[in-house]
Amino acid sequence: MVETGIDLLRICAFCPNPCRAAISEDIADQRESRTPSALAYLAVAVNEGYVRPDAETQTALRDMELAELCRPLCVYGFDVPAELRAFARQRFDEGTSGA
Ligand code: SF4
Repeated sequence: MVETGIDLLRICAFCPNPCRAAISEDIADQRESRTPSALAYLAVAVNEGYVRPDAETQTALRDMELAELCRPLCVYGFDVPAELRAFARQRFDEGTSGA
């Protein structure tokens, strides 16, 4: 059941990325780490304390180009970019856990 933003991100983190079909070949930077599932996994890892929320992590979590492309094809109807932005805002900008 999805009750919080981090619950939604946990589901996305372990989803096999069917939405990636929205990423066209003409996108220059096709790194797996930029997909919604990878970003959601990173957010969960930060939330659980497995990854430090340093500048590199924060930059990675704010890179929404591929996540925005994938959003219309999310099989669950999730707005993962919105949840990632909320997570980053709460965790990095406001300094709260947001979980
Ligand atoms: S955005 Fe939706 S379809 Fe894509 S990986 Fe996340 S949960 Fe799966």
